[in-house]
Amino acid sequence: MNQPDHSAQTGKRPDPAAQREAQGAAHVDERTARRVAEEARETEWRLPSFAKQLFLGDLRLDLIHPHPRPDAEARRKGDEFLARLREFCATRVDPAQIERQARIPDEVVKGLRELGALGMKIPERHGGLGLSQYHYGRALMIIGSCSPAVGALVSAHQSIGVPQPVKLFGSADQKAAWLPVSARSVTAFLLTEPDVGSDPARLRCSAVPDGDEYVLNGVKLWTTNGVIADLVVVMARVPKGEGHHGGISAFVVDMRSPGITVENRNAFMGLRGIENGVTRFHDVRVPAGNLIGPEGAGLKIALTTLNTGRLSLPAVCAAAGKWATKIAREWTAERVQWGRPVGEHEAIAKKVAFIAATAYALEAMVDLSGQLADDERNDIRIEAALAKLWASEMACRIADDLVQLRGGRGYETAESLAARGERGVPAEQVLRDLRINRIFEGSTEIMHLLIAREAVDAHLSVAGDIIDPDASTGDKARAAARAGGFYARWLPTLVTGSGRRPGAYGQFGPLARHLRYVERASRKLARSTFYAAARWQGGLERRQGFLGRMVDIGAELYAMSAVCVRAHADAHPEGDPIGGDVEPGTSAIRLADVFCRQARVRVDELFDGLWRNTDAEDGRLAREVLNGDFTWLEEGVLDPSLPGPWIAPAEPGPSGRDDVHRFIG
Ligand SMILES: Cc1cc2nc3c(=O)[nH]c(=O)nc-3n(C[C@H](O)[C@H](O)[C@H](O)COP(=O)(O)OP(=O)(O)OC[C@H]3O[C@@H](n4cnc5c(N)ncnc54)[C@H](O)[C@@H]3O)c2cc1C
Repeated sequence: MNQPDHSAQTGKRPDPAAQREAQGAAHVDERTARRVAEEARETEWRLPSFAKQLFLGDLRLDLIHPHPRPDAEARRKGDEFLARLREFCATRVDPAQIERQARIPDEVVKGLRELGALGMKIPERHGGLGLSQYHYGRALMIIGSCSPAVGALVSAHQSIGVPQPVKLFGSADQKAAWLPVSARSVTAFLLTEPDVGSDPARLRCSAVPDGDEYVLNGVKLWTTNGVIADLVVVMARVPKGEGHHGGISAFVVDMRSPGITVENRNAFMGLRGIENGVTRFHDVRVPAGNLIGPEGAGLKIALTTLNTGRLSLPAVCAAAGKWATKIAREWTAERVQWGRPVGEHEAIAKKVAFIAATAYALEAMVDLSGQLADDERNDIRIEAALAKLWASEMACRIADDLVQLRGGRGYETAESLAARGERGVPAEQVLRDLRINRIFEGSTEIMHLLIAREAVDAHLSVAGDIIDPDASTGDKARAAARAGGFYARWLPTLVTGSGRRPGAYGQFGPLARHLRYVERASRKLARSTFYAAARWQGGLERRQGFLGRMVDIGAELYAMSAVCVRAHADAHPEGDPIGGDVEPGTSAIRLADVFCRQARVRVDELFDGLWRNTDAEDGRLAREVLNGDFTWLEEGVLDPSLPGPWIAPAEPGPSGRDDVHRFIG
């Protein structure tokens, strides 16, 4: 095979064969895709994990209770910054203008820079504010509640953009070079490509070594901040070769480099102000010193960055929940229909209760996970993933309920409401803005698989070869013997536990019964996983319906645990309140109690669904739909995505036919 000559090619085009080899990775089968994901996984657990134990039937409340709190100095520094940030957002950011113009004004970015808000998580010695994860989350709540588009800008820059991977994996020189710059500028993270979404194994963007440089070629899609960024992190594939380990690698790229073009500024259903583009790299020369970590470590770097990075979106979701509680309270008390405030009609009252209880749980989850990350005593990768999954789903339900309880006003834009003299409540905008959270930074479907993989890790580590289709008969026999011993010891521990003891968790007062429920449900979840692994063995990884419900149960149990621990702390203050200036006292117990009751109903339904569902039938029907067996059902309507006669198609459509038109059938 033609290997690139790394010695003296500087200034020339890179070897086309190496470029082809790098791009050949686009043709991958499912097994390869799984292997790539597996290789990117962090397999070691050096610290305990509350959520991992929860999936194993072991409620380790001691890992989260008493609720961790920021130390006095971190608190002083963080609170002082939050006060300045609140003042800035309240007086200098006009969210209606951002929505109207679909643009974040330069003065807003400038103001954030002057405040230090672009370097919140960058250490002080590198020019940042050195805030804790907890205070970063609280800052995102303030920014996100003011303008979700500004929240997305700040979070894409700091949670996944240049600062975090450089902070975690950069050399001393790289930190000195890029962290101070990142504290003053906007950066972005470029992984997705037109053909590469959830499955990075297909990544095509290439980085071919050429002397002491790499030459980048490829197209990156949906680059949040990419339109205005100064520096970006690009994931590109290095071909294997002499002296080159190869593989998907992470590069810091200066956007002023020749050969970079931003081809489109994309527009979306929500987040109308974000600067999101399509970025093309054509023979872009990047110094070898811009490689973060070793070659081939790109995906691992991205995933590790997301360990805490995934907590940003939940913070924005919690903020939306808190705001929705306020609007729901004010509106449903004020709006009278059928002789009573609409909030007194049971159907609407239930929505108000759901919004308030869930908002409290969202905040509890975000604050607890952030504190656990700061304490560095726990491995929080599953907690952060659960928070991202659960918060993005719950916030969408909250926003949908908010639109519903506002009636027609919920569907009307804030601008239109204001134009006819009413309060401009942007309920429909919040629904649109929040919707993307279920898709980016790991879609709900991918989060289900990712968390399930971690949750069944204990099974896989002992029984892995039994269910590995590639393992030899000898390996399977040895694994079976190992698994037998493990389960003989483990299964009896799942039969009974503290959740069966009436007085257990007594210090939590009225919430003790909910913690007993969590303990029982945690063991039941572990037993169910064991039964499923025994029943489906290697086929379990394809049972996405089962795995999704299992993970959703885990998420609800984590939310319940976080809420009980938080309410206990709120009701028994030890100095500063955890979340802001207000001391909730015992009313927090009331909110937590109702939240847990609501969550238990959802958990019971999910448990029922583990074994009684239509998963198999749905799978069969979906295959038939994909096969075209029901195209008759699609007749009698128009397809607005196809060009009408008034639009001349530039070239044949994806079908290859030039006769596609709006009429179906
Ligand atoms: C507004 C916006 C901002 C973004 N910002 C960035 C950014 O800054 N940087 C960046 O790199 N990317 C960014 N993205 C891309 C985003 O991360 C991807 O959209 C996301 O990863 C999903 O990829 P996809 O859209 O290609 O969906 P696909 O991967 O094509 O998936 C389509 C559907 O199938 C599901 N699916 C896929 N694989 C499986 C599976 N194995 N099992 C079950 N279900 C599956 C998915 O969940 C999804 O519902 C952004 C996207 C948007 C819309």
